[in-house]
Amino acid sequence: MTASPPVALSIAGTDSGGGAGMTADVRAFAACGVHGSVAVTAVTVQDSLGVSAVHEVPPDVVAAQIRTVAGDMGVDAAKTGMLATREIIEAVVGACDAVGIGAAGSVPFVVDPVAASMSGSPLLAEDALDAVRTELLPRATLVTPNLDEIALLADVKVVDEASAHRAAAALHALGARAVLVKGGHLEATTGRPQPECVDLLSTADGGTHEFRSPRLDRPHTHGGGDSLASAITAGLARGMSLVDAVALGKAFITRAVEHSYPLGAGHGPVRAMPM
Ligand code: PLP
Repeated sequence: MTASPPVALSIAGTDSGGGAGMTADVRAFAACGVHGSVAVTAVTVQDSLGVSAVHEVPPDVVAAQIRTVAGDMGVDAAKTGMLATREIIEAVVGACDAVGIGAAGSVPFVVDPVAASMSGSPLLAEDALDAVRTELLPRATLVTPNLDEIALLADVKVVDEASAHRAAAALHALGARAVLVKGGHLEATTGRPQPECVDLLSTADGGTHEFRSPRLDRPHTHGGGDSLASAITAGLARGMSLVDAVALGKAFITRAVEHSYPLGAGHGPVRAMPM
């Protein structure tokens, strides 16, 4: 009999262009040897140039997807991406608590606090930010914000190593057990050339780990954040330690950016390569 792979669950929005969101998540899961299941939160009308419309899935349907997958095949690790509204966040939290995903249970829960697309379209309602802080972060095994999301959630402007540590501390104070401060946007934020992308992992025991990769100047990074969080989730679903799962995620996203490809008139996607 063929052995079944571990199961990861993506709680996220779709991207009709297939570059980001749940489509990227499932590709990353597969490339990392994990079966991908999905709870779709929103349908976005999207291409390589941006998001032109969003249709939210009713919160009870989002919750039902989580419960039914967990009840039948089980979930070894879960991640959130675009959650769109406060009502969807509340439904996600209720369903995750019920099936043991996140703080209350033993299933690792990666929260990627997606707030906007690369093209600037909002993917989270303004009044939902507080629910991310008070409902999601305290349940997260790991939160993976980029620099814009850190400014929104914790009101810390990351410009260097010291402020990255301050940002991690602020997110721990909001209840996140571990924080990955993604430094990939530092060059764009500060205007200072960065030869490396440095991501800082801060863990519940007070430990910190730096993950470095050479900075690749590629225009096609659509779906990069989703893919990184998903590869980490896949590592956790496979039973890796958090540090090993983040190392897998970093290696995965570095290769995915290196092999990214043009598609459409705007930003093409990163390419999921088998790990
Ligand atoms: N669309 C959806 C549904 C997403 O979840 C995300 C990011 O999480 C994006 C678009 C944005 O991707 P990017 O910022 O890489 O363009």
